[in-house]
Amino acid sequence: MSKVSENFAKFCEKHPRLYACAVLAENAFKKPVFRCQDCGQCILSYTAFTCPMRCPKQMRNGPCGGTREDGRCEVYPERHCIWWLIYRRAKRMGRLKKLRRIQKPVDRRLQHTSAWLNVFAGKIDPPSWGKD
Ligand code: SF4
Repeated sequence: MSKVSENFAKFCEKHPRLYACAVLAENAFKKPVFRCQDCGQCILSYTAFTCPMRCPKQMRNGPCGGTREDGRCEVYPERHCIWWLIYRRAKRMGRLKKLRRIQKPVDRRLQHTSAWLNVFAGKIDPPSWGKD
């Protein structure tokens, strides 16, 4: 990220009200659209814009191995495995190669922070917008 965006992120971090507004704006968009779980380290662009944190085990690198034959979750059989959905969407969207990237473990210290500002600040990896 550029020095300007890094400085902007630092400026927001020093001003709690401004930072809270940024978090509010991000959540207002991402929660209804992506069912964002507010982890603060977004990988939506790598997971076909489907939030992997909706998995009850919060798996970020593919399914746990317990997915049922019909693609349903072993914890909540009434739901599809989120990775079953991610794979189908990635295939449809031409984004399958992005699933091969190994994602870092979740850093709980970033929970409830702004993923957008975390990208600007260089705390997390930037999104990958293009197709494969
Ligand atoms: S990966 Fe994290 S920041 Fe991105 S939509 Fe899911 S919970 Fe929200």
